[in-house]
Amino acid sequence: MIYNSTNIQEIFEGLVNKKKHVILFGAGRCASECIKKINEYIWYLCDSWKTPDYITGDVCEKDYLYAYAPIEEFIDCIIDNDEEKQGKDFLYHEQTFQIKPPDYLKEVDTDHYIIIITTEKYENEIRHQLSHMDYLENMPCYSYNRNMHYYDNYSRGLIVDRVIIPYMEKMKTFLYWKFPENEYEVIKRLIEQGEYVCNGAAFQITTICNLRCKYCADYVPKMKKNRNMDVTQILRDIDTFFSVTGRCLYVQLSTAEAVLCVNLGIILKKLLQMEQVRFIEIITNGLSYPKDEEVVKLLANPKVMLVMSDYNMQEKTDESRKFYKEKGIRVNYLAKQRWKIEGTKPYDSKMSHADLIDCYMSCKQAKFCPLEIAEGRLTACGRIQRFVELSDFESNHDYLDFADYSTKKELKEALIRLNLDPYMDGCAWCAVPRQKPSEFIEPAEQLPYGVKGWD
Ligand code: SF4
Ligand code: SF4
Repeated sequence: MIYNSTNIQEIFEGLVNKKKHVILFGAGRCASECIKKINEYIWYLCDSWKTPDYITGDVCEKDYLYAYAPIEEFIDCIIDNDEEKQGKDFLYHEQTFQIKPPDYLKEVDTDHYIIIITTEKYENEIRHQLSHMDYLENMPCYSYNRNMHYYDNYSRGLIVDRVIIPYMEKMKTFLYWKFPENEYEVIKRLIEQGEYVCNGAAFQITTICNLRCKYCADYVPKMKKNRNMDVTQILRDIDTFFSVTGRCLYVQLSTAEAVLCVNLGIILKKLLQMEQVRFIEIITNGLSYPKDEEVVKLLANPKVMLVMSDYNMQEKTDESRKFYKEKGIRVNYLAKQRWKIEGTKPYDSKMSHADLIDCYMSCKQAKFCPLEIAEGRLTACGRIQRFVELSDFESNHDYLDFADYSTKKELKEALIRLNLDPYMDGCAWCAVPRQKPSEFIEPAEQLPYGVKGWD
């Protein structure tokens, strides 16, 4: 069994050019999800947009030659270990595929098939199982969730994976904001012209919080010095970032309790005056609310949305929500959002470059969370700024300092490069890849007073 990492563009080209077929492994809901996601990717890949000039390579890369064909056209059957499912049909939209036992693999011509594992939950077991089937020695096998987003070079598919899908998917999650119907057309044109497009930018305005959550994803209680960021620098960063950005879906204010930050009014006023800033999301724990009348008025602007999740402190969050409602301030209350262990001690797990790519490219946070700008420095993932602050972590790859670029052109090119680079050194220091899909914790467990260090 060959387990090389790949990407959907390469797989699709292989299926079309080499007339190969696909066998899926895992017939649950994950199979439908996997088919849907692969089709989305292929659809964007084959859609009519010119590959921007910064993607060099052969002619195929510039003028993509293949017409859209859904992955179902290449699927032969689905394997599943569950005897209850074997022999039945798996229905995807109007098409049916037979569910077969693993022994069926003995019959297939391994030169003409590839296997795609659809499930994340049983992925390791299936890999182990397949590795004992000697007759599959030369057959390529991929896991949708782990190694189908691997890129050695810049390519059209990389733009789909890193720019278009995160943008379009993120847009769908903002049910409370109405986006223009031609949003996709707009970002396609900008990408063609070599402009920088990103799905979100978070500006770190403070690291002061009124809680001390043990597993705070932003490591707020662990910081050496909690502080409000210099407001002049924040305003400068906002200008710098938007002077080189073609389209940004939304702005977020982070890192700790931003609604209580003393500079919130000045920052909001600035953002609300900017046409390029379309929506502003502010994350709050809801324990308290701002008292300054001017800030309250700014928060009531329809461009602003507060996002509050469950902190196990119902009485206080209810009171805040009541206050915000009375003032016409919109709150997106995520009552069902569940907590996972994130704020564990950063450590260097010494991943290989290939593993870093698989890790970063399959990380949902990397795909959908906003990039973060703090004190003149931009990172693709905010957690990487924390690793710099809290550990020995350093990288000459993961972040860029605005001050290092003397022209807008240079900065824009650097932003595009950072966005397209398929790995971050910091992922080796992160707890997120080690999370188990179904392992949740109690919300907002507090650190005892005075405890600052790690467990
Ligand atoms: S998780 Fe807790 S400590 Fe961290 S920013 Fe949110 S409320 Fe503050
Ligand atoms: S540092 Fe962690 S959260 Fe950020 S992209 Fe890497 S794995 Fe994902």
